[in-house]
Amino acid sequence: MDEFSLIDDLIAPGAGARDDVLLGIGDDGAIVRPPPGEDLVMVADTLVEGVHFPPQLPPSDLGYRAIAVNLSDLAAMGATPRWALLALTLPAARRDFILELVRGMREALAAAGVQLVGGDTTRGPLCLTVQMTGSIPPALALTRAGARAGDRIFVSGTLGDAAAGLAVLRRGVPRDPDAAQLLARFARPLARNALGIALRSIASACIDVSDGLVGDLAHVARRSGCTAVLDLAALPLSDALVATVGREEAGRLALTGGDDYELCFTVPPAQLAVLAGLDQSVRLTAIGTVEDGNAGTVVLQDESGVRRQPTVSGYRHFV
Ligand code: ADP
Ligand code: MG
Repeated sequence: MDEFSLIDDLIAPGAGARDDVLLGIGDDGAIVRPPPGEDLVMVADTLVEGVHFPPQLPPSDLGYRAIAVNLSDLAAMGATPRWALLALTLPAARRDFILELVRGMREALAAAGVQLVGGDTTRGPLCLTVQMTGSIPPALALTRAGARAGDRIFVSGTLGDAAAGLAVLRRGVPRDPDAAQLLARFARPLARNALGIALRSIASACIDVSDGLVGDLAHVARRSGCTAVLDLAALPLSDALVATVGREEAGRLALTGGDDYELCFTVPPAQLAVLAGLDQSVRLTAIGTVEDGNAGTVVLQDESGVRRQPTVSGYRHFV
């Protein structure tokens, strides 16, 4: 199969459809029409085989994941997702592999109402780069820079599951339901877009937890010029995680495991009541407080109030 029939026959049919796309896949460039008066938010994320996912990850999950991780970046900005581009590098044009990849991608695109409007296809080591664009009314975007002393720190969902799920995936097919649940957290991350949009006028800062809570929260602390104090006893752990790896390892994974794609955000005291009144289904947990001083520091506090510095932070590609 050549790359043109690959694009026309396999990729284009799964691209989705939006009214604000004037020209989609098929020309030299796509033409989209932003909502009048809104700003555009642009993100990109690359998944490299052997770096971001092991060869055991089924192609449908890989396709789903490539879209989901970009949706998560837009969620962290509070933006409404709209359009995506896909740069696809494949070792071979295997029809069954591409069909599965597109199936997973289409699921994630459709759930978010995003249209794939173009991309590029080349031969080489398996790698997917997705670029996604969303929009937001002026001055409403959530950034890493707005946290202030006295703000409470929250996280959505549960932490550490995806890191344990990746270990399950590397071992092979999971046998028990807990392991399967953890694996799904890695293979099919649920981007928190509705939450991100709801937080536009509530949160002072926001980040998605992709590289591990401590490392990602340190980015917020650095950009906001403050310290983040984490309440260790408050970290939300799933029953499946605790049952699979034990409480101690679960706590460690919750602090440093990557790939959960939950939102971690700060809320000023005056907005706490609004947050509590949010009508939405995602579990939210208060996990700490913002303090002045030592910009960029994350401090761990145990139940008796004893504080220590974390020994490891987030994932880094270049050390
Ligand atoms: P060009 O040579 O002008 O870059 P291509 O032949 O690479 O054009 O692409 C043809 C059309 O298919 C373009 O609209 C491009 O955006 C789209 N396209 C190519 N690869 C992909 C892909 N992996 N996913 C989505 N669209 C793609
Ligand atoms: Mg061209």
